[in-house]
Order: sequence, then structure tokens, then C-alpha cells
Amino acid sequence: MKMRITAALMMTASLGLMAAGAAAQTEVDTHVMAAQTAAGTDFAGTLSVLCIQPSDGTDPGVAQRAANAGKPRPIPARDTWYAEPAQVFDNVYWLGTKFHSSWAIKTSAGIILIDTMFNYAVEDEIVGGLKKLGLNPADIKYVIISHAHGDHDQGAKLLQDRYGARIIMAPPDWDATMKATNMTGGIPKRDMDAGDGQKLTLGDTTITIIQTPGHTLGTLSYLIPIKDKGKTLTAAYSGGMGFNFPRSPERFDTYIASAEKMRLAAKAAGASIVFSNHSMYDHAWTRSRVARKAGEESPFVIGAEAVDRYFTVLRECAVAGKLQLKK
Ligand SMILES: [Zn+2]
Repeated sequence: MKMRITAALMMTASLGLMAAGAAAQTEVDTHVMAAQTAAGTDFAGTLSVLCIQPSDGTDPGVAQRAANAGKPRPIPARDTWYAEPAQVFDNVYWLGTKFHSSWAIKTSAGIILIDTMFNYAVEDEIVGGLKKLGLNPADIKYVIISHAHGDHDQGAKLLQDRYGARIIMAPPDWDATMKATNMTGGIPKRDMDAGDGQKLTLGDTTITIIQTPGHTLGTLSYLIPIKDKGKTLTAAYSGGMGFNFPRSPERFDTYIASAEKMRLAAKAAGASIVFSNHSMYDHAWTRSRVARKAGEESPFVIGAEAVDRYFTVLRECAVAGKLQLKK
């Protein structure tokens, strides 16, 4: 009898656990579904990177990054990454590879450049790309780094050394850069700190810098004024997406707060364009190649409602990611 009671109690307890597990999974599913609805077909790449997670909440890249730590990254063959540069708005030039993006904002007093990509792409895509488009790389006055990862910051030193460009990063990512041991392209001299809400003005153009920690502790996003055939538009630049960070509930909370902060900032600014630093998130490489007919809207203009959905995908996938963390 006693044994039976124990067995019954154990059974009840395990059923209870199963019910709790099922409830937790239902909550995860609710947020994944919300992200899916928000993504639609516009942000399928963002959804697949952020929401399709291993169910135990681990970062699948950890082992690979540990195995590669300290080893120089092999340089891929040029034809696997090289993309033609393109002017995408009156004042915006896309200088990306097939995977990563660098953006040049032309002002009345020089160029503001966003991100410098892997070192191997700097000469061909940024220096060469600006020249191909009739611009002078020596006119780069500011380089803002969305976050201190190699695919976005390796070219910073070259632009600082050769053209005297001022480099801007958030303090936590400067700290990480200064401690880097194997930064291909070299470590730039520590330069300007990016503040939250800071207005960076060059000539006739003011970019608003918004700190959006999460992907790294110093990830930056921006609101960028766009000139398009007489119209003034706003682009919301989203600066760091993947969950390849030390995973904790607190870190996910930071990420979630930043996604929501940027969603609201984009909404308040009436942003109708999303730019990012990987083409899988914003289709920049594809969109840069679309031939625009007279009177046709730029393929980059997706509308305020879609911009809102983009940041909703980030937020909802991060909530689902947090819920899937191992307890
Ligand atoms: Zn990154």
C-alpha cells in the first residue's frame, strides 16, 4: 500500500512536471507564432536565424567558435563574396558583399560610413566601391561601427590610418576591441564613444544613434535621414541580431528591451525602411540590384507597418529564446 502511494505520488509529480513542461512549451510556441505572423514573408531570413532554435536553448555555434578561437579565418575566394556597389538612394550608397553590408551616407560635408566588414573586403568593396560610384574614400569623416564583431569592424583601422576617419563605437565594444588578440586588419586607436540618443551631424545630415545592447553589450542602431527623388524618408538601421552571446535570462531581457526601444524609436520617427548589416535580414544585396523604373518606389521602402513587424520579430524570438534557456 505504502509503495502504491509512493508510486502514485511519483506519478502525480511527474505528470505535474509534464504539465509544467507542456505549459512552458505552449508559451514558447505562442511567441514563435507571434514572430512568424510578424515576419510574414518579408522577414523569413530574420525569423529563421532567430526563432528556429534548438529546444534546449543552447547556442549551436559555441563549439564551433571555441574550435576556431585564435585561428585566423580563412579568406574565402573573391567570387564567393564580391558584390557590385550600388547607389540606392540620393544620399545612400550600399557597399556590401553578398553577405555583409557597409553603408555610405553622403552629406554636404563628407561621408558617414556604417560598418567596415571583414578586412578582406575593405579595399574592393569600400575603397573600390566608393571610387566606382564616383565618390572619394578620403571624404569619409566618420565610421560608425554597429558592433565589435569581425564581420563588421575589421576594416576600421585601415580607414582610420589611411583617411583619418573618426571611428565611433559604444564604450563596451571599444573595451572589447582594445582587448582583442587576433583582430585581422589591426586594432584601431580608441576614438569616439557613441552615446544613447546622440545626434551625429555632418554637413546637412544628422544621424541619431541609439544604443541597443543585446547581441553585444555595445550594439548600436540608428535613425538615418534618406533623400529619395525629392522625398525625405527615414531608415531604421538595426545593428545586431543573432543570439550568439553568453545566454542568460538577463542578457535576453537586455536584448528584448533594445528591440522594443528601437521599434518605438522607428515608429516615432515614421521610419519606412529597415537597413541592417547582413543581407539575410534586410535583403540589401538583392534590393540593391533591382532596376527601378521611373515613378516606382524603391524596393528598400517597405512602409512603417513592416518596420514595426521587423522589430516585433526580434522581440518575440528573443522572448522565445529566453523561455527555452536551460533552467
Ligand atoms: Zn555580430
